[in-house]
Amino acid sequence: MKKLLSDLSPEELERLVAARGEPKYRAKQLMRHIVAYDSYSEYTDLPKKFIARLEEEYAERALTEKTRVTSSDGAVRYLFETVNGDLIEAVFLPHGYGNSVCVSCQVGCAMGCVFCASGHYGLKRNLSAGEILSQVLFIAREKKNDGGVRKVVMMGSGSPLANYDATLKFVSLLTSPSGLNIGMRSVSISTCGIPDKIDKLADDGFGGALSLSLHAPTDEKRKKIMRIANSYSVNSLISALRRFFDKTGRRVVIEYILIGGFNDTESDAEALKNLLKGLCCHINLIPLNPTDGCDLRPCSKKHAYEFCDRLTALGLSATVRRSMGSDVAGACGQLKNRTVEAQKKNDNEKIYRK
Ligand code: SAH
Repeated sequence: MKKLLSDLSPEELERLVAARGEPKYRAKQLMRHIVAYDSYSEYTDLPKKFIARLEEEYAERALTEKTRVTSSDGAVRYLFETVNGDLIEAVFLPHGYGNSVCVSCQVGCAMGCVFCASGHYGLKRNLSAGEILSQVLFIAREKKNDGGVRKVVMMGSGSPLANYDATLKFVSLLTSPSGLNIGMRSVSISTCGIPDKIDKLADDGFGGALSLSLHAPTDEKRKKIMRIANSYSVNSLISALRRFFDKTGRRVVIEYILIGGFNDTESDAEALKNLLKGLCCHINLIPLNPTDGCDLRPCSKKHAYEFCDRLTALGLSATVRRSMGSDVAGACGQLKNRTVEAQKKNDNEKIYRK
């Protein structure tokens, strides 16, 4: 399979051009084209011979668009095909204060949370840094005259901390001054929680935001909805977040899906208060979005706000997340590897039709 130029850091590009006997400034030229998500025909400031040799080894682009669906709220769910034919999804979220993109970091997901479509068929493979980055590059090119992309959240399919090296390289490429130059503070990683990887993230100097998919205040409840809860206790996760805050000084986000009658009672609020005591955090309440094959019940909007008020009254900082894209299956927990889905349903036609 051909390699990807978008996988290369500025230093790696310099080594590439040096190995081909080209002057150093070619690396910067290449970087500009990669960041603009150009096709080779647009690399007009580079020698034709150099491009021809490049083409033998490197794919033109990491992703091609298969289809897209636009939500009534303006969110766009893109289905991309990778060079080897896997399908992945990303979502564009328009905001007056700066557009954001939600990227996938794996084809499928191994975590198997019962409420989330991404892990429905397990994990196929990790995406490379360049494949993750190219989701943003593609959308930034599209939205160039529409405010571009200001914020990136790793909240699509896959578990960023289970694809640690690619995640870290992606963040470094994304925030590089010679890249899209997205502000580090505008990058969010969401994780179901792997304590030693949370520690590593802080030690490696990650300066973005960290969100933990907690979703239940006790191990007993969490085990009912998240397989990873059998490996790590909520206490070990919250301890890891405390260390993360101590090392980085960054307030963490606790994501908490609201499932009607399951985790939204007064005693759940009390348990959350005790668990999170003294942790500098903000709780993001997410009313459950429907996914195929999941019969958990969302709580009503009214109840979500009541639960939020209850947390606030207990001294916690909490808000209800405004969910976008749910009418096009582009909201939290609705992204997936639609290849498998298509094969299962034998309806490629419908899924690929533009
Ligand atoms: N893989 C990452 C990101 C997941 S998506 C992670 O595990 O954290 C972002 C948030 O949406 C996570 O907190 C995730 O648990 C949550 N989510 C998943 N399925 C959902 C659903 N059906 N409705 C609402 N939120 C969901």
